Amino acid sequence: MVLNDFNKGINSPLMHIKYAKQAESILDLRQSLIKRGCDLLIRFGKPEDLVPQITKELLKKYKVLGLYLQKEITRDEIYVEKLLISRSPVPLKFFHGSTIFQQNDFTSIPDIYKTFREQVDKLNHQLLPIPLLNMHRHFPPFPRIPSIYDETNNSLNVSTSEFLEKLVSTPCHQRTCIPFKGGETSAIERIKTYLNSPVTSPPLKQYNPPFSLAPKKPQRALAPIAKYKQTRNNLMGINYSSKLSPFLTFGCLSPRLAYQKIVDYESKKPGGETESTYLIKSQLLWRDYFKFMAEKYGNFLFHIDGFAGALKLERIKNRRKKWNQDFDKFQKWANGMTGIPWIDANMRQLKETGHVFVSSSFLVKDLRLDWRMGAELFECLLVDHDVFAGIGNDPKGELLYFNIIKQAKEFDPHGVFVRVWCPELSKVPYEKAHIPWIMTFEEQKRSGCIIGENYPKPMIERQYKILKTRFFEAIKKGG
Ligand SMILES: Cc1cc2nc3c(=O)[nH]c(=O)nc-3n(C[C@H](O)[C@H](O)[C@H](O)COP(=O)(O)OP(=O)(O)OC[C@H]3O[C@@H](n4cnc5c(N)ncnc54)[C@H](O)[C@@H]3O)c2cc1C
Repeated sequence: MVLNDFNKGINSPLMHIKYAKQAESILDLRQSLIKRGCDLLIRFGKPEDLVPQITKELLKKYKVLGLYLQKEITRDEIYVEKLLISRSPVPLKFFHGSTIFQQNDFTSIPDIYKTFREQVDKLNHQLLPIPLLNMHRHFPPFPRIPSIYDETNNSLNVSTSEFLEKLVSTPCHQRTCIPFKGGETSAIERIKTYLNSPVTSPPLKQYNPPFSLAPKKPQRALAPIAKYKQTRNNLMGINYSSKLSPFLTFGCLSPRLAYQKIVDYESKKPGGETESTYLIKSQLLWRDYFKFMAEKYGNFLFHIDGFAGALKLERIKNRRKKWNQDFDKFQKWANGMTGIPWIDANMRQLKETGHVFVSSSFLVKDLRLDWRMGAELFECLLVDHDVFAGIGNDPKGELLYFNIIKQAKEFDPHGVFVRVWCPELSKVPYEKAHIPWIMTFEEQKRSGCIIGENYPKPMIERQYKILKTRFFEAIKKGG
């Protein structure tokens, strides 16, 4: 395994969490291979330099039939593939491995997800995702050639495993909703729990809400997946949605295995497929869809107009004029200092835990900032960053506008989430936690939160005035 630029990213303290998970995943893979009588060679550097070098060393003692690689589809990776092809002394064999279906299972990839999903439903009757390979129990021992096996032979000048071990000691934030270790072992454990272990999904203890959020009637303990449809948008709990995304991102879990486990779960239940299982399968298929779309439209994925740019729509030309790259605004957003608690809480959670619930719609729809600025930040910080899901989902102006206060009220009705991540608001009355600017000056003093001093004024004046009236109405109606 060759890690490109891995050590450079670690210089940023915020990226520690992301790299710790990646290091855990690599060490877990190594352990699995050691258990099967083999080993994993880990090196830091550029794959296009190191892989041909290592292959040449191996060729001195062994017959090497070929190099097996996953086929990548984005520009930078394709460039590396080309260099590898030109430099490798043995043939390269590519395969597609990170999706449930294969692009050639479809005659063409439709531009609308609904149509794609219909095609998948038809396919399902004829062909299930490619069967899983039976994992070998034992592999031949790893070739011990001193010239390639010297662990300190890398740019860091420390043993690779020593370096990775140090990295994995980075503790998760106590409030993270992804507290799992990286690696296949942990991924399999997670999927088992999500599909089989009955839990009542209480909010994480560390949140200490001032009132009980426990349901009034005792709830039947069900496996989390059984309640996916109802709970997937809940905040602050580990069992509301599957939390499989970091495992899928790092390649610790095959999406095909995850999909198959859900199908197996359905087959054991009297009712078979439920709304929840249909929905979670659908979410996994979104992942496939965005990857196939990226393959279809190539570099348009990174274009300011996204895939829509490839369709050369007239209305897009006009919209482009509205994008801006105001760095001051961007910094306020990135640092969770917009003065809008729902956005600030999400962005602060991202910085501390590598996980975010929502926030990009505000960046592009309200601030009209170039979406690529946000995409870059997400790429650096998200523990589950996936270029296809991330950029594919990014609103870029094409999707619905989300009213952030309405959204906040829906997802965090008691204001617990925002008060936890924005401690300045911890004494603000719950009903005003999402709109602290409507407090009278007396209230602001009482709650130790003077707007403009202890907590920023909201960035969007015009909008907040409109929302103020709407929100007052909602409060009056007890909404
Ligand atoms: C603006 C935006 C950016 C996003 N960026 C990323 C990203 O960088 N990496 C990432 O993995 N997901 C991304 N998603 C998709 C989704 O939000 C996350 O996959 C999901 O929150 C992960 O939590 P989970 O594993 O508990 O998901 P679940 O709800 O349990 O879903 C199961 C799996 O389905 C897939 N999935 C779910 N929703 C989507 C979706 N909308 N698009 C594509 N795949 C989906 C994921 O692999 C996920 O792990 C983004 C969504 C939006 C709206």
